[in-house]
Amino acid sequence: MTSEECRQMFLAVAEKMVNSEAMLTEIDEKIGDGDHGIGMAFGFRNVKKELEELEAVSVEAVFKTVGMTLLDTMGGASGVLFGTIFISGISEREPHQEIIVGDFADIFRKSLDVLKKRGKAKPGDKTMVDAFEPAVISLEESAENKETMKQALNRAALAARNGAEDTKKYRARFGRAKYFGDNAIGYQDAGATSIWIIFQEMSDWVN
Ligand code: ADP
Ligand code: MG
Ligand code: MG
Repeated sequence: MTSEECRQMFLAVAEKMVNSEAMLTEIDEKIGDGDHGIGMAFGFRNVKKELEELEAVSVEAVFKTVGMTLLDTMGGASGVLFGTIFISGISEREPHQEIIVGDFADIFRKSLDVLKKRGKAKPGDKTMVDAFEPAVISLEESAENKETMKQALNRAALAARNGAEDTKKYRARFGRAKYFGDNAIGYQDAGATSIWIIFQEMSDWVN
């Protein structure tokens, strides 16, 4: 995938997130404060604007634009966490004009490690980590098995989706959902749902 294709893929992701506002709001209203859809839509509306104007000189420039825009415009704890997903993995990389499956695996693995360190959430705590970690592991397996980009992103999306759905079974250890105790069981985590939508759109874009 070229850096220009990467830009176009994340443009599609940004549009999808903007269009998912109502659905994410509904989810965050159940066991949170209902602002997740607004925050994500606001952040990704700005991402769309920035990516439309970006000359995609490198894959890293595309990731950086997405992450910095989320960080700067979303605000709040989740803005930092979603920014982290796109920035932390590329901060030490040389610019590349192309991205292969192994690069996605490396970039998102580094981001996941920083996210877990910063947010302190572990799998099973009912956060975005529950969708992101399985997607990263899936990408690593795909890289090892030399799968195509299509196969890899399809599998990662499925892993993220299963991870997001599994959050229904958990009690929350972070955010407002924590105060719901056992009453949070049965409801899906909003941030994990956003991660699934991001990977699903990446997968849909390559198909
Ligand atoms: P807020 O909780 O400030 O209202 P949002 O509603 O935008 O922010 O985002 C909530 C989402 O952020 C949660 O559904 C969860 O997935 C994620 N989240 C919250 N705290 C953490 C954390 N410490 N580590 C990882 N993800 C977290
Ligand atoms: Mg919220
Ligand atoms: Mg809030």
